Amino acid sequence: MRGVVWIRPAAADGALWPTRAGSGACSCKAEEGDNAERWQPTTTPQMCAPDPATPARSKRHPLRPAARLPRAPARSRAGALSCARPGPPPLPILLLLACSCKIFAIRGRRGSAMSVYTLPELPYDYSALAPVISPEIIELHHDKHHAAYVKGANDTLEQLAEARDKETWGSINGLEKNLAFHLSGHILHSIYWHNMTGDGGGEPLDKDGVGELADAIAESFGSFAGFRAQLTKAAATTQGSGWGVLAYEPLSGRLIVEQIYDHQGNVGQGSTPILVFDAWEHAFYLQYKNQKVDFIDAMWAVVNWQDVARRYEAAKSRTNTLLLAP
Ligand code: MN
Repeated sequence: MRGVVWIRPAAADGALWPTRAGSGACSCKAEEGDNAERWQPTTTPQMCAPDPATPARSKRHPLRPAARLPRAPARSRAGALSCARPGPPPLPILLLLACSCKIFAIRGRRGSAMSVYTLPELPYDYSALAPVISPEIIELHHDKHHAAYVKGANDTLEQLAEARDKETWGSINGLEKNLAFHLSGHILHSIYWHNMTGDGGGEPLDKDGVGELADAIAESFGSFAGFRAQLTKAAATTQGSGWGVLAYEPLSGRLIVEQIYDHQGNVGQGSTPILVFDAWEHAFYLQYKNQKVDFIDAMWAVVNWQDVARRYEAAKSRTNTLLLAP
């Protein structure tokens, strides 16, 4: 128990300045016009605070520390009101909370208080695509590599927010490149996991309910065999890191194959990826070593055509988003 009495003086500015006035029980002295029972002693910070249960008679209440309203005073074992805790949190904690609130408020103003992107869960377990892709690769690929792109995208958004806040634009080129790299990596992997299934493979057929996709492939590439050969070549011959992608191109309404460098280069603007083959070494090297073409060939056995067809329909329905004439 603190042996001090805090008296609320009639400060001109209405602030709650404590005054040491003796020892013993805690009390507060009310100003004229105020009701004394309204003011309760607090130990930390050392001042009087209004009792929220007691209405004020006067409008002269410096309620500036409204957020510091104390909890009910603790009762000692003897049953007497005590200035000891539980009371308001210690001043350092209050300051810490205040600082935290300020940080969050600033971030909230920037619109980046929370992570924008999150790592999606796999739609199957690590072994679902074996033997085409080993469980070890799936685990590393999803839990480490994909997770890194998610973190990278969020971190870059934070750095861009800081650049705006400080008006420091010296790193803008690098930041924009990083955003494209990590965000595209996140998006492509999010599609990639759903493009595959342990029950997949073959080719899209009308009897399986994916006839429109089959027709679009035939119309755009001449035949499924031609399409498969082109996507296989595009994915297997990526120089360095990249992807082979089947995409819906809204200007023509046709499907095209794109060979994407890293995650973001060589992309036709506005095209929507609907089937993606990850040709980065992390996608296959532990199992296929340097035989990237073998990995891509094997990938066809796990293509989820139902998923590809859903993406095709969704992309086709958003044809007008570019507002361009064909
Ligand atoms: Mn990857």
